[in-house]
Amino acid sequence: METIVYQNKEIQFEIKHSKRRTLGIKISGDGSILARSPMGLIKSEVIDFIKSNGSWILKQLKKLESSRVSKTYTNDYKNNEIHRFLGQSYPLQISLAKKRGVTLFQNSLYLKSPTPDDTNDIKKVLQKFYKSQASLIFPKIIDKCWLLFEKYKLKTPIYRYRLMKRKWGTCRQDGLVTLNIELIKEDIKSIEYVIIHEMCHLIVPNHSKNFYDLMDLILPNHKETESILDKTII
Ligand SMILES: [Zn+2]
Repeated sequence: METIVYQNKEIQFEIKHSKRRTLGIKISGDGSILARSPMGLIKSEVIDFIKSNGSWILKQLKKLESSRVSKTYTNDYKNNEIHRFLGQSYPLQISLAKKRGVTLFQNSLYLKSPTPDDTNDIKKVLQKFYKSQASLIFPKIIDKCWLLFEKYKLKTPIYRYRLMKRKWGTCRQDGLVTLNIELIKEDIKSIEYVIIHEMCHLIVPNHSKNFYDLMDLILPNHKETESILDKTII
């Protein structure tokens, strides 16, 4: 995976060489970018080409993102609205209280706030809950998944958790793995899938056949999980 910065935005792409005469750019529905290059071209020439098409690429990515966002189920953060956590659905029970907080009890998410009618505030309180749960639960799943990679003697990656619109996770070549906080809404299997996918990138950085061979080896049923995750658009 290559990265350039264009107009303060990161553009990540892969380069694929093949028997063709001209350079081309393919942007997939998930926002991944492939630069198709003739055999003889060197990396810097491909990077120049990507840069010269930077504004077009950013425009396409923006379009993709807005079409995804419009498809996303929008919340209005009202009482009884269903919210997800670790693959389960819970109604939100909002009540007035001095201190803000969320408790998962039996089959409901109890949310307390001094301003229970302020949907913006409710949204923030809920996001804070998801974030704190992600930072509690992700490390445990990461530790478990990392055992599968023991034999490769890899350098332990650094993890960070962010809200991302288009991606479940990313892995930088220097070993920085970013996981989407929204993943905490999915079931454990799906979270494991994303984590293992990113860990596999520490060995194979692209989505080549080698990468999927490695995924097959480490997580034999990954295709099932992948298709479940694909249905949930974030
Ligand atoms: Zn990947």
